[in-house]
Amino acid sequence: MKIIDLRSDTVTLPTDNMLRVMKNAHLGDDVFEEDPTVNKLEEKSAEIFGKESALIVPSGTMANLISVLAHCERGTEVILGDKAHTFLYEAGGIAAFGGVHPRTLPNAKNGTINLDEIRSAIRSDNVHFPRTGLISLENTHNICYGSPLSKEYIDSVAIVAKSNNLPLHIDGARIFNASIALNLPVNTLIENVDSISFCLSKGLSCPIGSVICGKSDFISKTRRIRKGLGGGMRQAGIIAAPGLLALDEMIVRIKEDHLNAKILAEGINSIKGLHVELNLVKTNIVYFELEDNLQEIDKVVVDLDKKGIKFFAIGLNRFRMVTNRGIDSFDIDRTLVELSSYFESI
Ligand SMILES: *Cc1c(COP(=O)(O)O)cnc(C)c1O
Repeated sequence: MKIIDLRSDTVTLPTDNMLRVMKNAHLGDDVFEEDPTVNKLEEKSAEIFGKESALIVPSGTMANLISVLAHCERGTEVILGDKAHTFLYEAGGIAAFGGVHPRTLPNAKNGTINLDEIRSAIRSDNVHFPRTGLISLENTHNICYGSPLSKEYIDSVAIVAKSNNLPLHIDGARIFNASIALNLPVNTLIENVDSISFCLSKGLSCPIGSVICGKSDFISKTRRIRKGLGGGMRQAGIIAAPGLLALDEMIVRIKEDHLNAKILAEGINSIKGLHVELNLVKTNIVYFELEDNLQEIDKVVVDLDKKGIKFFAIGLNRFRMVTNRGIDSFDIDRTLVELSSYFESI
């Protein structure tokens, strides 16, 4: 029986082509900036995102941590959503390692933060206050239904940031999902942003890695911080090679993940007792809720795991499924069959 793993798009395994380019990659010592494959990936990333420079790092978590540390001094504050990955799921790293204070504002269901709330959260010069150092957004927004943030919204936050002399960072772990959902190239989508991190290891199916893009002096700073955190890697071309391949070959196929997510969402919503906010399903993440709260949600996850369907319970009566390259339309059908027979039997 095939295991249908809908826990995340991080579970995707490297393709045969990726393994081949890893084996054949030209390598050097990247701490000396002498790995030609890494240099190529960084140049290509910077070009695709329309920024001056880029840096490969081991993970999305480290990409965000390094970006925040490069923008913010100790004791300053970053404005971010209360459902931001950086706030919820990155081990408190910005506080633990950077001494940076998270100023959380409520995320709307679509992942945005109210502009007036951002404006009024920016600190005035007063000895009682920490100084504001950064505004950070997430696109697509993982916990907020995988919502893509529009260019208009990002630009309006960028104007607030600029008029207050603050940098704007985007946690773009799934920025290509946003780009595809909005039908806009990533460089247009984030043209008014100072820095962005994106993951190679999610929908793009690479085994490891994330990339930070921004201005050259910012990237020089991130390079030093990466070294300090122990993230300087030697023959990192092994990681960069599938990254380069993914930027060529793996972006367009994300469309399939979005289509599968839509079919999955509609199917789940038609199962008695389950509810999906269908209008919020725009990328590869599907959240569904139990209409009554009676189930033990962890038991649901364990029971369906026994049927070969893996997903997460996130929140009080909420579940998350993430479509990815390992999931085809037969898997979606089988998931729906298993879910409906399970929920009809209880
Ligand atoms: C997965 C994810 C990250 C972190 O990526 P890792 O490589 O798992 O550390 C950051 N931000 C968002 C929104 C994510 O979904």
